[in-house]
Amino acid sequence: MSRLADSGRVRFPELSADLWELQHEVEGISVAGVSVAALATAFAVDRFKTAIDMGRCSALLAAQETVLLTHCHSDHVAGLLAWLSAHTRRHVGRPTRVLIPAERRPELLAALEIWPDLDGVRRRVDLDEALVGASPGDTIELAEGGTATAFAVRHNTASLGWAITADDHSRPAVIFAGDGTVEPFRDVPSMLDAGAAVVDCSFIDPGTRVAARLGGHGHLADWIELLPELRCNNLVLAHLPPETTAAGILERLPDDLPGRAILVPWVAPPR
Ligand SMILES: [Zn+2]
Repeated sequence: MSRLADSGRVRFPELSADLWELQHEVEGISVAGVSVAALATAFAVDRFKTAIDMGRCSALLAAQETVLLTHCHSDHVAGLLAWLSAHTRRHVGRPTRVLIPAERRPELLAALEIWPDLDGVRRRVDLDEALVGASPGDTIELAEGGTATAFAVRHNTASLGWAITADDHSRPAVIFAGDGTVEPFRDVPSMLDAGAAVVDCSFIDPGTRVAARLGGHGHLADWIELLPELRCNNLVLAHLPPETTAAGILERLPDDLPGRAILVPWVAPPR
């Protein structure tokens, strides 16, 4: 330890579990990020230099060249200003592209054009070119031969899900369903057929299932019920309520999980 730290005149805070950027590997592809309902959701699939939502920014997220927004609620886009600034300054010359549900593109572009003190970003990147409207069925090319295809989901505002596929595969590696109810996937479970499906699990308590559906969100019980129909290898439960712990999830799960998908609740592991 250095003399200064030894002297007690310099102290550091402790590393807090809730600051972790969680990471999970599926079929050789790493998914990293944070997803907490109402606070922030942002994932990176670094293999394809792609971020999914930008509720917060980080060094890893800033390095991503394409941002696939699922929708414009603040907990999914609040980090976009930081990303635009950090990505265009720290990763000069790299592609800068934001895919957004087509209905929301005009408002986001207008907002970024007048946002105070964003002149550096406006000098470095043509926002009109960087913002790309997307609709269900659209497919775009990503870095390293990946592709992303947009699909419709059922949330309470204009929203898209994104299926990301590696060039040597026909089955998506990771599907990000964004926010939304379980209904489209109950109707067509094969929509989530992938190495990993990242889904909305904003509600976990018994008695809140109707509230979840009315609010345009998924509930833990919905996903447990749908498990036997799903063919994804991993079902990632994202957008969990703030303060959710691994122990809290475990105590709400049945002893015998139906189906074959591995459940991956997106919370810090038990310590
Ligand atoms: Zn939302």
